[in-house]
Amino acid sequence: MTASPEAVAALRAELVAVLGDRGVSDDERTRARASVDEATMSPILSEQLPLGLADLVAYPTNAEQIAQVLAAAAAHDVPVTTRGKGTGNYGQGIPLQGGLVLDTSRARAVVEVGDGWVTAEAGAPMVALEQAANAAGQQLWMYPSTAQSTLGGFLSGGSGGTGSITHGSNWEGFVTALDVALPGESTLRHVEGEEAQTFVHTYGTAGVIARATVRLEPLQDWRAVYASFDDFGGALAAVRSLRELDPAPRLVSADLPFVADRLPADPAIVKGKASLRAILDATVLDRAEELVTAAGGAITDVREGAQQTLKVSMLSYNHPIWWLKKNEPDTVYFHVEVGGEALIDAIDDVHAVYPGGMLHIEAAHRFPIGMLTAPYTGADDVYAGYPKLQELGVRVHSPHQYYVDHGVEELLALKATTDPGGLLNPGKLGTPEGVVVGDATASAQPAAIPGFGK
Ligand SMILES: Cc1cc2nc3c(=O)[nH]c(=O)nc-3n(C[C@H](O)[C@H](O)[C@H](O)COP(=O)(O)OP(=O)(O)OC[C@H]3O[C@@H](n4cnc5c(N)ncnc54)[C@H](O)[C@@H]3O)c2cc1C
Repeated sequence: MTASPEAVAALRAELVAVLGDRGVSDDERTRARASVDEATMSPILSEQLPLGLADLVAYPTNAEQIAQVLAAAAAHDVPVTTRGKGTGNYGQGIPLQGGLVLDTSRARAVVEVGDGWVTAEAGAPMVALEQAANAAGQQLWMYPSTAQSTLGGFLSGGSGGTGSITHGSNWEGFVTALDVALPGESTLRHVEGEEAQTFVHTYGTAGVIARATVRLEPLQDWRAVYASFDDFGGALAAVRSLRELDPAPRLVSADLPFVADRLPADPAIVKGKASLRAILDATVLDRAEELVTAAGGAITDVREGAQQTLKVSMLSYNHPIWWLKKNEPDTVYFHVEVGGEALIDAIDDVHAVYPGGMLHIEAAHRFPIGMLTAPYTGADDVYAGYPKLQELGVRVHSPHQYYVDHGVEELLALKATTDPGGLLNPGKLGTPEGVVVGDATASAQPAAIPGFGK
């Protein structure tokens, strides 16, 4: 499905009436910028770019305008791809079939902080929510390492991050209510509880999140803790033992010396050594030091304050891979999302799956997860590693595909009622077999491997 030039022109005129001149753009550079995300993290996706170009970009400034914009696009039969900050890893924010990119980043009000919850508009940065929560003596259940990314983008395209050791993924009760914009409805639909969960992590294919209420908990006295190890095995052992602290850590991440040396310079990240970074409750610091020492490491610094813990968050999940790529521009790296105790128990075998393989690891809710990175030698070599990892007991999720690859049947059932015309982010629906539903132009991909994601 693509929109005709006449439909785009008519939609543009209507959107200017709603949003004003500065609320709509058909400038080519603006459209190009709005049509990419961080899919360049994947060399396989990079080889396919550009995958789509928006015809128009709209910038609603509040939740109600999001509904108005979507209704206008639906009236003109123009496909809509919603955009937050554009930091998604998989190209899930690329408008494969052109049409309208609905940029929510100006609809960023933090509406209300209550006891155990915060309500905000889709474009509110996660870090702004954490700050608002902190000011009320609370903290978010979770936020991603891309802390500047948006609430709507995190709920729609992300999975978890700081806080996930206790609370799991963002589809496991984090969301309590949503106000969703749907094609053909000019007002927002309010959904709560289980009904709200069904919209989470669906890449905006079933509805556009205009406003969301997510969970808070009482603020803890956190410390940013850095440790170094001569041996990566020691760091892995500490990831496992620190995970069991009570109260639980908010985050525990570790890297090999080669990756750690490519993070932003910091005296607490000791050159040539494996690095562990954690956000720990102040009451467990003595015990944490015992555990680090027992694993053969040394605490290199303990820092206080929200800025310090945020800094540790922003060196977690996919950020070490991002820094590796940035600081090693002559090598093309790929990564695979991996999970399971085998990451610790069989690390040498895991590393050996890809020549030059290096694991970034996170303590997580049920089992450790991470990113296995290595120099890129071709898509076939990447895919050939998946079954080898599985044989080792490693769960694998491929970051080299841009379509929803889990919970697809449930999503199709929802979408049949919310978006029967298929206007929302077309081309982003896959089946567990990797077959794209609809008229997408995606190239064939190997099967998505269940177990890592939803
Ligand atoms: C270096 C790096 C580190 C990362 N770390 C993490 C991490 O720790 N945890 C994690 O979960 N992810 C992580 N990510 C992935 C991504 O940054 C996050 O998921 C982020 O929260 C996405 O938010 P965004 O505002 O950038 O969304 P976008 O990239 O703009 O959008 C993501 C998806 O959601 C859809 N969407 C956006 N807004 C809405 C809306 N309001 N309603 C409906 N659909 C919408 C888009 O169409 C797209 O499909 C990382 C990415 C990078 C590059």
